[in-house]
Amino acid sequence: MMELEEHAKSLAKRAKSRVGNVIVAYEVKKWPEGRLEQLLKMRVLRSLPDADEIRCPGCTERHMIVPIRTILPNGEPYSEHLCGKEGLIEIPAFLFKRWQIVIEKMIELGYVAAPIASETDEFITVTEAGILAGVHKGTVSKWADAGQIEHNGVKGRGRKVSKASVLMMKHEREEKQAQGDYEEYRRDIENIPDMH
Ligand SMILES: [Zn+2]
Repeated sequence: MMELEEHAKSLAKRAKSRVGNVIVAYEVKKWPEGRLEQLLKMRVLRSLPDADEIRCPGCTERHMIVPIRTILPNGEPYSEHLCGKEGLIEIPAFLFKRWQIVIEKMIELGYVAAPIASETDEFITVTEAGILAGVHKGTVSKWADAGQIEHNGVKGRGRKVSKASVLMMKHEREEKQAQGDYEEYRRDIENIPDMH
């Protein structure tokens, strides 16, 4: 298995890839003992709120389930699911856990390159902004009209928009895209057999 630093670097790369920056409990279970704690301590990972939907741990079907979660009278969390194949199964609380790869920390550690930084907020034309963000210039105008990006208040040919806010929109769109890709990836790994 990978050393800690090597592992962190591979996670940094993965966060920038189409797979995305969310890690689920099934993945962590394959890591060496204590690795999760080490990565959390390095702050390259942070905890996310628990998932509602997980893969069924009771059978080899790998189907997605939404288990019933409750708190027992003694204060302990308890969760169960009625699996069509295996019957009623208890779900360990750990399986609901999720983590996010912290890109800012990865950049700080030099594990991935920082995105293009603009020191001073430059104003650029709508056409330039479209090229920068990879969208049609009409889309940039719509963002400006909707107040989603900063602009110089001029309509038509004289319109200029803030490069920094265009980059921010671009980043947000990529994040959404990555999240969509992650959902796709998650459906794919449902078919990997050796999870038990
Ligand atoms: Zn099942």
